[in-house]
Amino acid sequence: MKGIADMNILCNMCGKNIPVENNIPREDFIEINKAWGYFSKKDGKTWKFTVCEECVDRLAGQMKIPHEVCDTIELV
Ligand SMILES: [Zn+2]
Repeated sequence: MKGIADMNILCNMCGKNIPVENNIPREDFIEINKAWGYFSKKDGKTWKFTVCEECVDRLAGQMKIPHEVCDTIELV
């Protein structure tokens, strides 16, 4: 049986394969899961993207207002 983590993870921007070993992705990435709402032209549709860390860096570099960075609070 194949779990979801056994599937290939591909960056939607550059097509890069994010390696998965023992169900654990060996590189971090962003997953965007957007359910469009009534005031969009995509009402009722959900869009899903995966973006690798290098592409996120490139995207962030193109933003007019720099992203915020804060320390991650680990919930134990
Ligand atoms: Zn990428």
